[in-house]
Amino acid sequence: RPDQDLDQPFLTGCQDPAAYAAQTPRENATFVMLARNSEVDDARSTVENIEWQFNRWFHYPILFLNDVPWSEEFKDVLRRTVSNGTEVRFEVIEKGKWGFPEGMSEREKVKAKLSMKQQGERGVGYGGMESYHHMCRFYSGEFYNLEVLKPYKWYWRLEPNVRYACSLTYDPFAEMAKRGKVYGWTIALWEMGNTCPSLFKATNDFRAEKGLPRTSNWNALLKVMWWPAPIRWLLGFLSPVIEVHDSSGRKWNTCHYWSNFEIASLDFFRGREYQEYFRYLDSKGGFYSERWGDAPVHTLAVHMLLPPEKIHHFSDIGYEHDTLWQCPGNAPMDRQLLGNKALGNTGKMTPPSEGGTGCRCKCNENRRRRNINSE
Ligand code: GDP
Ligand code: MN
Repeated sequence: RPDQDLDQPFLTGCQDPAAYAAQTPRENATFVMLARNSEVDDARSTVENIEWQFNRWFHYPILFLNDVPWSEEFKDVLRRTVSNGTEVRFEVIEKGKWGFPEGMSEREKVKAKLSMKQQGERGVGYGGMESYHHMCRFYSGEFYNLEVLKPYKWYWRLEPNVRYACSLTYDPFAEMAKRGKVYGWTIALWEMGNTCPSLFKATNDFRAEKGLPRTSNWNALLKVMWWPAPIRWLLGFLSPVIEVHDSSGRKWNTCHYWSNFEIASLDFFRGREYQEYFRYLDSKGGFYSERWGDAPVHTLAVHMLLPPEKIHHFSDIGYEHDTLWQCPGNAPMDRQLLGNKALGNTGKMTPPSEGGTGCRCKCNENRRRRNINSE
């Protein structure tokens, strides 16, 4: 990209994290992890890892969110997992913020349930799982209005079973604040079009209604293709890949930031413009009649509402979840550590979680130590 040097890593080289932490005031920020009681092991693994790679120096609080009460086991295990000085909090999502929108009629709910069933039958990713739709809607909008987040200006999203491959030796909140950044991401990928055939149209309609400009940032999400309607119809008919267009045929490339990693400003997402966008999407029903994900919703919003320089790619953060990972640009994947199994003949990338860090990290004190409990 021509503007590539506008978005370099905040700091290069390895800081002494303890010294950095001692001389940099903490931001008003918190980790957040939505999880189920059944995910206790995976949640522990994430927390162990983030504590080891970052938070044992910075001690940001960790807020756990659940739509049902937390089990004693989950709370016990996670309390024991954090380092001394890290505060943990276990909250049940307040009434009205999880599930179908308030004010949705029983009739509409029956319709939504039927639609989700059909999405499941059509093989839409997670389309048949009602709780997943609720989760996406929650993270798309209601999340930002939680009472427990009111005191904070920033959040860093965690998920069970993610892994930070390298130590992070500076405070990303402080550096984002210093540079006026609003949204930080690690991995971008393509959305499956059949989860959100009308999301881009709805977004563009909202944009036009509000008189918001099509910025260079917005255009970054477009493929330079204007299909005439009959060709779009034919393509949709012939191709199992659903293409996502606005009403004038501009095609969204479905690129989005993978939202299981996010470091972002709460003020932006609870602000008027974003919340209006969320309510507009909610009014279209697509969190249930389709399976709109919070990741594309966040991405479209930041590209619609923010100039490019307010979005930051953390290209220096080593991050893994499921089968995708990012290694820092100067610390490529260590093929040897991957081993033969991971390089098996499927042709699929396998995460480097078995054996070693995967990335040739520059700043780890001891690359073999994977978590705080293995000291
Ligand atoms: P994927 O990453 O898209 O495959 O989705 P996940 O299953 O990892 O879900 C995303 C996040 O939402 C994870 O943090 C899950 O723990 C959480 N999550 C998903 N569904 C539910 C739910 O019904 N209840 C709760 N409490 N958490 C959920
Ligand atoms: Mn996940």
